[in-house]
Amino acid sequence: MASSGKSPEEEHPVKAFGWAARDASGVLSPFKFSRRATGKKDIRFNVLYTGICHSDLHHLKNDWGSSKYPLVPGHEIAGVVTEVGSEVKSFKVGDKIGVGCMIGSCRTCEDCADNLENYCSKKVLTYDGARYYDGTMTFGGYSDHMTVDEHFAIHWPENLPLDGGAPLLCAGITTYSPMKYFGLDKPGLHIGVVGLGGLGHVAVKFAKAFGAKVTVISSTPSKKEEALKNFMADSFLVSRDTEAMQAAAGTLHGILDTVSAVHPILPLLSLLKNHSKYIMLGAPEKPLELPVFPMLMGRKIVAGSSIGGIKETQEMLNFAAEHGITADVEVIPIDYVNTAIERLAKNDVRYRFVIDVGNTLKAA
Ligand code: NAP
Ligand code: ZN
Repeated sequence: MASSGKSPEEEHPVKAFGWAARDASGVLSPFKFSRRATGKKDIRFNVLYTGICHSDLHHLKNDWGSSKYPLVPGHEIAGVVTEVGSEVKSFKVGDKIGVGCMIGSCRTCEDCADNLENYCSKKVLTYDGARYYDGTMTFGGYSDHMTVDEHFAIHWPENLPLDGGAPLLCAGITTYSPMKYFGLDKPGLHIGVVGLGGLGHVAVKFAKAFGAKVTVISSTPSKKEEALKNFMADSFLVSRDTEAMQAAAGTLHGILDTVSAVHPILPLLSLLKNHSKYIMLGAPEKPLELPVFPMLMGRKIVAGSSIGGIKETQEMLNFAAEHGITADVEVIPIDYVNTAIERLAKNDVRYRFVIDVGNTLKAA
């Protein structure tokens, strides 16, 4: 129930339809709700494609303890504009549009002033327990249409496919932003990517486009061929192959760790050269053990990073379009979504599920 006391179906004037989980079983089923009327600075758009991020799975299962139900996931969203408010300046009806993990922020704090809305303490997430300015719960992109403040909308580059491009709104910016911020975007560096999943495979593509040499570190040898041939990684390590890991010790200038589960980082830290950076991007539900001595001895930095600001998300999408970077996707109909989520939990996806919302989500 919303703070207004009205049900999600009644609280706004515009009918909407999506798929929601009702509890931490995470099982999704059809869900009727409503969206606000298009305000002066708002854009309404039809959702065409939505990627399934592992964060959707964490949220659905309440892994982080913060989930609120009913929960409509989806924060890798590509669509087409159907209506614009009177003060919207840079979008018009018919434009393609992208929306990622955020749809609001305070717009006045230091981080917002620096175009880092993603670090604003008052940011409004696209879904999951987040409250919009009017107090109503936000619902994500596993739904037929959305309303978004123009500031949080991304212009879609003309030559970027909508299905393969949608995952860039989270997986893309989450990997692009730390490479830029931590100086790991310089040609000639040797970058490690741990976990070849949705984030990981896009990280490899960006790192290659920046001119890096890339080593993938995976828990399974089954992804080796794709890593080397499809994503043009330069080498591939299986994390439990102690001999190969030791042989690669001290070779990397930076590591992006995209693993979704608890895992040991000591063997990974030893892959770094001294004075290098280990960036955590994955968000396991429990803390990892941080081995202090290897950090001290090699003056290594362990850091984290969360998605990216709106300006940088636009820059990332433009860069992806220029360099022909998209996610490798398995496009699915909405009624396959629960199976897809189960497969994602079992690490059985090459490399991102994307829901064909536009063609397959129909109001009951
Ligand atoms: P994903 O597609 O499931 O990929 C995660 C990869 O981690 C898997 O493909 C697998 O790669 C590896 N992995 C999984 N379980 C493992 C285990 N037990 N031990 C070792 N490796 C394991 O997930 P994703 O969508 O890329 O998301 C990855 C993580 O990033 C999630 O925790 C997600 O919530 C988080 N995330 C963070 C941000 C942020 O802003 N920082 C944004 C989006 C997502 P291999 O098969 O190669 O081992
Ligand atoms: Zn995500």
